[in-house]
Amino acid sequence: MPIQLLSPQLANQIAAGEVVERPASVVKELLENSLDAGATKIEIDIEKGGHKRIRIKDNGSGIEKNELQLALSRHATSKITTLDDLEQILSLGFRGEALASISSVSRLTLTSRTQAQTEAWQAYCEGREMAVNIQPAAHPVGTTIDVADLFYNTPARRKFLRTEKTEFQHIEEVIKRIALSYPSVSFVLKHNDKVAKRFIADKEGSLTTRIGAVVGQKFIQNAVHIHAAYEGLQIDAWLGNEAMLRSSNDCQFSFVNGRGMRDKLIMHAIRQAYESVWAVIEQPSFVVYLTVDPKDVDVNVHPAKHEVRFQQGRLVHDFICKTVSDALHAMTDEASLTGMD
Ligand code: ADP
Ligand code: MG
Repeated sequence: MPIQLLSPQLANQIAAGEVVERPASVVKELLENSLDAGATKIEIDIEKGGHKRIRIKDNGSGIEKNELQLALSRHATSKITTLDDLEQILSLGFRGEALASISSVSRLTLTSRTQAQTEAWQAYCEGREMAVNIQPAAHPVGTTIDVADLFYNTPARRKFLRTEKTEFQHIEEVIKRIALSYPSVSFVLKHNDKVAKRFIADKEGSLTTRIGAVVGQKFIQNAVHIHAAYEGLQIDAWLGNEAMLRSSNDCQFSFVNGRGMRDKLIMHAIRQAYESVWAVIEQPSFVVYLTVDPKDVDVNVHPAKHEVRFQQGRLVHDFICKTVSDALHAMTDEASLTGMD
C-alpha cells in the first residue's frame, strides 16, 4: 500500500482509542471542559448507562459562534499556547483532543452561547473529513454537549461496553471524584430521567459539606482532618479510623492540584502510613488533597491524565507518609487515653 495521510476522522478515532475508553471517560472529559469554562452548575443526563446518550449542560463561559468549528477540531485548545504554559498547567484540559475524539466515535452536538451573544448556536460534525455544520439554536449562556450512540461506528469498541448498570457505576465514580474536588460547583446526575445523585454547593463551597454528601455523613463525622505544609507542598486530608477499614478500596480518594487520580506513589505513601499504625490487611478510607507547585508536577504523562509525575517523588512520598502516620498515631493515642477513663 502507498503511504497516505489518514482522514481526519480516522486520525481522531485512533486518538479516541486512548482517551475514550467507555461512557465514563466521555463524562470525565466533558465535565473537565465545563469546569475549565468556570461553570458553577452542571447537569449530567445519562440514558442507558451512557450507551444511548450522555448530555452535559453547564452555565460556563460558552463558546463563540466562530470558534465552534475549532472546538471540534483536533489539537485546538484555548488553554495553552506555549511550552511554558504546559509546564505550569492549571486547567484540567490542554490537549485539545477530547471533543474531536469523542465526535469521531459518536453523534455529537455542541450547543453554546456566550454572554456577548444574543443567540445560541449549535454545531455537529459529519463524515470522513469531519465537516462542521452550524445552525442557530436556543440555549442560555453556557454549553450543552450531547453525545449519542457512543461507538456506533466503531463496532470493535462497542463490543467492549459492559452492561448499562456497570457503565453507569463507572460514571457515578467519575462524578463523585470530580464533585469532591469542586465543592463550590453543583452537580445533578440523572439516569434515565431519574435523579441518581445531587450534590448542591453550599454558600461557602465547604469541603466538609461536600465530603459528607459524597462519601457519607458517617465518614465525615468520624474522620480526622489534617492540614500540613512543607517546602511548597500542602496536604489536606480526612482520614478514616480503624472502624472505617473496609474490604474494598471504594472509599479512597486522592487529588493533586484539584485533579482526581489514583497515583501509585500517593497510594503507597498512605498505605504505608496506615500500616505503621494498624496491621492493615483491609482498605483504609480517606480523602486526600495534595497541592504542589504546578512546575513540580508533570500531568502530561497519560492521555487520560490518570497519573502524574512528581519532580521530587521521594519528598512527596515521605511528606504524605509522615503527616498521615503522625495523625493516625495521635488518633490512636487519644482513643487509648479515653479508653482508660
Ligand atoms: P481541551 O480541553 O484540551 O482544550 P477539548 O477538545 O476538550 O480540548 O475542548 C476544545 C476547546 O473547546 C477547549 O479548549 C475550550 O475552549 C472549548 N470548550 C470545550 N467544552 C467547553 C465548555 N463546556 N464550555 C466552554 N468551552 C468549551
Ligand atoms: Mg477538554
